Amino acid sequence: MAALDDLMSKAKELADTVGKATGELVDDSRMKLQELKLNSELKDAYERLGSVTYDALKNGAENKALVDLVVSEIDGILQSIEQLKAARTAPAAGERYCPQCGTTNGGDSVYCARCGAPLSMAAPEPPAAEEPAPAPAPETEA
Ligand SMILES: [Zn+2]
Repeated sequence: MAALDDLMSKAKELADTVGKATGELVDDSRMKLQELKLNSELKDAYERLGSVTYDALKNGAENKALVDLVVSEIDGILQSIEQLKAARTAPAAGERYCPQCGTTNGGDSVYCARCGAPLSMAAPEPPAAEEPAPAPAPETEA
């Protein structure tokens, strides 16, 4: 039953492809979720820093140790966010960037599809423009 075997192997191939795509999708949403969580932690930490600094200024209290603690916490969160962003902007496996024009080519490409330059495994150029930060939610007028 060669035909059936053929059909089975095609079905398996398709399932593998779908499984891989779904896995990438889940991974991406998980990273987005993690980024949201970190951003919210960062906001909380900034608020804490503001409150600690306010107390110090208002009461002349020696809050330096507390301020340092919150600052190092913020540094840690910022570092995690940077790492997450770096992971998200990393090129997908199996893609090759053209060092000449920056075009993304398939992993098996030897020459750039756009400019014909030979492709090496050179690191991609950093993106020219950062994505604009989302605008903060408008304050409701009192
Ligand atoms: Zn090119």
